[in-house]
Amino acid sequence: MTRILLTGASGFIASHILEKLLARGYSVRFTVRSEDKAQKLLAAYPSHADKLDYVLVPDIVVPGAFDKAVQSDPPFDGILHTASPFHFNVTNPRKQLMEPAIQGTVGILQAAKKYAPSVKRIVITSSFASVLDATQGNSPGKTYTEADWNPITWELGLENALNGYRASKKLAEKAAWEFVEREKPGFEIATINPPMVFGPPKPYISSLENLNTSNERTLNFIRGKCKQGLPHSGVFLWTDVREVAEAHILAFEKPDAANKRFLVVSDKYFSNQMIADIIKKDFPEYADQLPEEREPNDGLPEGGCYKADNSRSREILGLSYRPLEESIKDLIGALKEMGL
Ligand code: NDP
Repeated sequence: MTRILLTGASGFIASHILEKLLARGYSVRFTVRSEDKAQKLLAAYPSHADKLDYVLVPDIVVPGAFDKAVQSDPPFDGILHTASPFHFNVTNPRKQLMEPAIQGTVGILQAAKKYAPSVKRIVITSSFASVLDATQGNSPGKTYTEADWNPITWELGLENALNGYRASKKLAEKAAWEFVEREKPGFEIATINPPMVFGPPKPYISSLENLNTSNERTLNFIRGKCKQGLPHSGVFLWTDVREVAEAHILAFEKPDAANKRFLVVSDKYFSNQMIADIIKKDFPEYADQLPEEREPNDGLPEGGCYKADNSRSREILGLSYRPLEESIKDLIGALKEMGL
C-alpha cells in the first residue's frame, strides 16, 4: 500500500487532496497545527480510520518541525507539502509569511532527506505568484510558462503583505529547487503553481468566520460588502480546487512529472464581474447584495491581459478544467451548508 505524508491538511486545498488520496486507497498521515483540527479530519473519514493517522506540527518555522512526522512504519513513499500561510492579515511579512513559507519548505525537504529515505517524490504547493511578474501589469500578448519566475526579492517582500505573500511563495519554491540541486537527495520534487483557487471548502473543517483567502471575495459579494462597486479583480487567472488537488496526486504518481513545475490554470479568465454575474443568475436571492451597474468588458481589462500556458498540466498530468460557473456554484453551495 502506498503511504503519503500530507502537510497542512486543514487547509482549503489540502482537505480536497486528503479526500482524493483516501478515495484512491492511499494510506495517509497528515499534519495539522492543533488537536481540534486533527479530530475534525479523523471524524470526517470514519471508514478510513485504519489508513489515517496524524502528527501535530504546531509551527513549521521551528528547526526540525517535521522530523517526527516523516518517520513512519510502514515508511512513506511520497510527501505532499501544502502548509504555508496564505492571508494578508499581517503586520510583519517576514515573520508571518516569508519565514514560515521558506523554512517550512526547506524543513520538510531536510527532514525527508535525513529520516525518510523511502520517499521517492515530494510535491510542493507553490503558486502562480512564483511565476507572474506583477510589475509588468496586464502585459497583453505575454504567455507565462513554467520557465518564468517572478523577479520579486526578499527586500521587496518586506514592504507589505501582498509583496510578502508573493515573495514567500517565490523564495520558498526557489529554495526547494536549490535544495535538490545542492543536496542531491534520494527523492525528486515537483511543484504545483496555481493562480486564484476557487471552489467548495469542506464544511467539516472550514467556517464562514475563517474562510480561506481566495474564496473570501465571493462571500464578501454575497454579504453585500461590495454593493457600492466591485474591487479590482487582482489577477484574471483562476482554477478550481478539485483540479489543484488532483494535480498534486498526479504529480506524485506520474513518472514524467519528476522535477517539473506545473501551471495548473483554467483556459478561461475570471473577473469579479463574472463572479457577480454567476451569483445573480444562479442565486437570485443575493442579487440585491451586488452593485446594480455592470463593469464594461465583463470586468476584464479592455486592452487584454497575459495568459498562462497550461499544456504541460494537460499533457503530463492529464488535467482538464471545469468552468467558472460550476466552481462558484459549488462554492456557494458549500457556504450555504456552513450556515450562510
Ligand atoms: P489555507 O489557508 O486554507 O491553508 C493553509 C494551510 O497551511 C493550513 O493548513 C494552515 O494551518 C497551514 N499553515 C499556515 N501557516 C502555517 C504555519 N505557520 N505553521 C503550520 N501550518 C501553517 O489556504 P489554501 O489551502 O488556499 O493554501 C494552501 C497552499 O496553496 C498554500 O501553500 C498557498 O500558498 C497555496 N496557494 C493557494 C492558492 C489559493 O488561491 N487558495 C493559490 C496558489 C497557491 P491552519 O489551518 O492551522 O491555519
